[in-house]
Amino acid sequence: MSAQIGVTGLAVMGANLARNFARNGYTVALHNRSVAKTDALLAAHGDEGSFVRTETLTELVDALEKPRRVLIMVKAGKPVDSVIDQLVPLLEEGDIVIDAGNSHYEDTRRREAALAGKGLHFVGIGVSGGEEGALLGPSIMPGGSRQSYDSLGPMLEKIAAKYDGEPCCRWVGTDGAGHFVKMVHNGIEYADMQVIGEAYDLLRAGAGIEPAEQAEIFAEWNKGQLSSFLIEITAEVLAHTDAKTGKPFVDVVVDSAGQKGTGRWTVVSALELGSPVSGIAESVFARGLSSQRDQRAIAQDVLTGHEQQPEVPEGFIEDVRQALFASKLVSYAQGLDMLGSAAKEYGWDLKLDEIASLWRAGCIIRAELLDDIMKAYAGGQQPANLLFAPAFAEAIAAAVPAWRRVVATAVQLGIPVPVFSSSLAYYDGLRRKRLPAALTQGLRDLFGAHTYQRVDGEGTFHTLWSGDKSEVEAVDTH
Ligand code: NAP
Repeated sequence: MSAQIGVTGLAVMGANLARNFARNGYTVALHNRSVAKTDALLAAHGDEGSFVRTETLTELVDALEKPRRVLIMVKAGKPVDSVIDQLVPLLEEGDIVIDAGNSHYEDTRRREAALAGKGLHFVGIGVSGGEEGALLGPSIMPGGSRQSYDSLGPMLEKIAAKYDGEPCCRWVGTDGAGHFVKMVHNGIEYADMQVIGEAYDLLRAGAGIEPAEQAEIFAEWNKGQLSSFLIEITAEVLAHTDAKTGKPFVDVVVDSAGQKGTGRWTVVSALELGSPVSGIAESVFARGLSSQRDQRAIAQDVLTGHEQQPEVPEGFIEDVRQALFASKLVSYAQGLDMLGSAAKEYGWDLKLDEIASLWRAGCIIRAELLDDIMKAYAGGQQPANLLFAPAFAEAIAAAVPAWRRVVATAVQLGIPVPVFSSSLAYYDGLRRKRLPAALTQGLRDLFGAHTYQRVDGEGTFHTLWSGDKSEVEAVDTH
């Protein structure tokens, strides 16, 4: 029996994706470096669909219909290269190699170019939704050649999450575009979680609201503008009581957040692109600071806060909700803006409405908001920034007074709100008619003859700072 797809790498993600394909009627050839995982999967779930057991990559390749589709779901990094190196000599022109792991997009670009040279398609696909999503329907962001999508796309669309019956899977662009979009998705996810954390901290330390009561507040928020998977699970986590101590679960968890690297990748890439994703960056740094537990312990004795205890303003809970919404919106705007910069840099035709549509179900940042974001870019509308789309300009304007009150209160109380405050600074920075960057340019010209342009005409200039301070026209080196 020929299988329509082969999966190599049957740890939790690969196994669940393989089961998802099989449950959707495809025959799936299974392979794992150690055969035990293949057998464990077949023993536990072999009756869920049509599987072909293989022990070697040669057997896997031989089990597939042509053009072959081999999906790699092994540990990201060197293992992916190792599997590709073993697979390539076994494949024929036109076959498709898929990497569905969390690979860095530059690795995907390199691998795509190398395999294209051998007549093979290499497709990097971003998969979001964790273990459960992989099994029941993830959000899928495929890159690679358009041609490969003709063969692969229908299968991916079948196993993907659905929003109003529409699959959360579309070809997003060539070579590493899929992994890039997934990376930015994860960056936004970092910011989304951080703003939730900031809201929780303000309600707890600022307004004295205990986790169980906050769970009800978040559950209520989940019914409105903020409706999303992350708000929903925040209510669940805050409502949970530790069985051992009877304390709120959130109080027995060590307050240092881990990271696997995709948030950091987003920020590094944004720095290279010159893309101001300040909310995402602050959320990555906030995790970093939380992990500096030794320094934080010393700071308890050494650093003084001089906090003021302002009256928590009336309506504080609603203010925090609005600040959370506005900051969240800024993170999405920054992430989408970064996609726009990457599209120019890498020659990708990224369609922001389609990308927003992929995130409406299956993935971790799924939210009602994404349907509105999709509409803001639909029909060829291209606001230069999400915040400029009329619906969002209006929504964020309505939240600004509360947002300012919350940030001011947080500063006085000594509660760090790095994403709330940096998002407000981004918003004000965009709006400001004149930025102090003019002074920066003056300083750069004085110490490094970096030149500047004038507001009142064309050209590039330099002031003879160590001479008579006259201005000369300069050759533009930028
Ligand atoms: P994983 O723990 O990242 O990797 C384990 C798998 O990789 C095993 O099948 C292992 O085979 C195989 N492997 C490791 N080194 C290998 C090598 N040199 N040659 C061949 N096979 C090798 O598995 P995972 O958690 O299922 O994740 C897979 C990918 O999905 C990763 O890129 C991950 O970042 C991404 N991802 C994970 C999640 C999640 O929620 N876990 C969500 C989205 C994406 P053996 O059994 O023989 O050791």
